[in-house]
Amino acid sequence: MLFERLQKPSPRILLIGLVIPWLSAPVLAETDSAKASKKSEVLIAELAEDESVEDVEHSAPLQTKGKNNTARQPAVPQGGAGIDTPSAGSRKVAPNIDLKQVAPPPEAQVSAPGDTDADAAESEVMATEAVAEPEPEPEPEPEPEIREGEVFTLLDNDVLPGTSTRLAWTPGIQIAGLSQTTPVLVVNGINAGPTLCLTGAVHGDELNGIEIIRQTMYDLNPEKLSGTVVGVPIVNLPGFQQGSRYLPDRRDLNRHFPGSPDGSLADRIAHSLFENVIRKCDMLVDIHTGSLKRTNLPQLRADMNNPDVAEFTRGFDRMAVVHSSGSAGMLRTAAVEAGIRTVTLEAGESHRIQQHQIGAGVNSLTSLMERQGMISRMFVWGDPEPVYYDSDWIRADHGGILFSEIELGASVSEGEILGYVSDPITNAQHPIRSTTDGRVIGMAVDQVVMAGFAAYHIGTEAEVPGE
Ligand SMILES: [Zn+2]
Repeated sequence: MLFERLQKPSPRILLIGLVIPWLSAPVLAETDSAKASKKSEVLIAELAEDESVEDVEHSAPLQTKGKNNTARQPAVPQGGAGIDTPSAGSRKVAPNIDLKQVAPPPEAQVSAPGDTDADAAESEVMATEAVAEPEPEPEPEPEPEIREGEVFTLLDNDVLPGTSTRLAWTPGIQIAGLSQTTPVLVVNGINAGPTLCLTGAVHGDELNGIEIIRQTMYDLNPEKLSGTVVGVPIVNLPGFQQGSRYLPDRRDLNRHFPGSPDGSLADRIAHSLFENVIRKCDMLVDIHTGSLKRTNLPQLRADMNNPDVAEFTRGFDRMAVVHSSGSAGMLRTAAVEAGIRTVTLEAGESHRIQQHQIGAGVNSLTSLMERQGMISRMFVWGDPEPVYYDSDWIRADHGGILFSEIELGASVSEGEILGYVSDPITNAQHPIRSTTDGRVIGMAVDQVVMAGFAAYHIGTEAEVPGE
């Protein structure tokens, strides 16, 4: 055998009986895998997918019963704009900033060394700067009358309805005088509605999401928005600055949510973000990319065993949807357990800015906001709306140099050659064949691989549980 199929094919049924065009949205159900359970923790770290290969393989198959449902479904959602953070003592009104304006340079943020209340001080500095910097704007607090929308309180700031602003979050784990704040963008609509949160670069080397959030949020008009959109474009700022997926302590932040105030560095950062920002959300889209030189077709990873989450995925236009019940410590998993409808959006590969992938992400988030009644645009939905997939990873069975014959998104047939692993010394050519009919929803870029490397992620259309 030149390749190894890791998972038993699960029954797949055509959900939408159409030939899927390129960017249609299927849901891939990750089936369980007995073999995968033998993999060690080390291997998970090495593979380092957001939703790693193992996470996908560990996921429960799509079953209507959904054994985890009870645990994951708090009766009362804990998210929502009305909840104040414990520290909501000295709040201030956030300045109204046109997010399309060029932001002030961040130098002044360092101007409060020795200040014990670093959070507040930095937020304040940032806020005052933001008002002062774009000097030509003679808008001294437009004082918008509070209509239907409500004041949205975040990070000790009151964001008035019909305004947008930049806030600053700091997990408080650095040397106070040197600490950097992480920008948090808020657009609070003039009308009432749900709170949608967007997080990017939880893995610091995953860049597409940063741009997806920028394009999505800067295009929102708070005067026409119903509800609130909160964006944290770069959650893992230290990792981002070093081009690293990990935190400075080499931990994967996306295995530490919801975190803890007295745990490891990763625990503390996760806890701070979760308590101060994430709990404010009704809905969360955590944006990632493939890792370790793998690229992903724009797709959602969602726990389709959770009816609320499954329903949530319907709002995303032209997205493949892959079932993944998620691993402990993931932001997605923790947020769902806190009653927040959450999916992971995967787009492209790490270390790169990919316009096509970014465009797909922005399009899909726009469709989501329309579906949720937050914006009203003449949105044209793609032909099949989300398409749901079951999925299998196909691994290289030999070490060597991988050369792919197919492209991301291609439809493939069982037995079709996906690529070759070429042994540079013996000149042996080992073909890797598809084990099933389906669509290439993720794949490794050409590179040196070892035997066992997960090279192709093949999705086959599946039905949503309970339908
Ligand atoms: Zn990631």
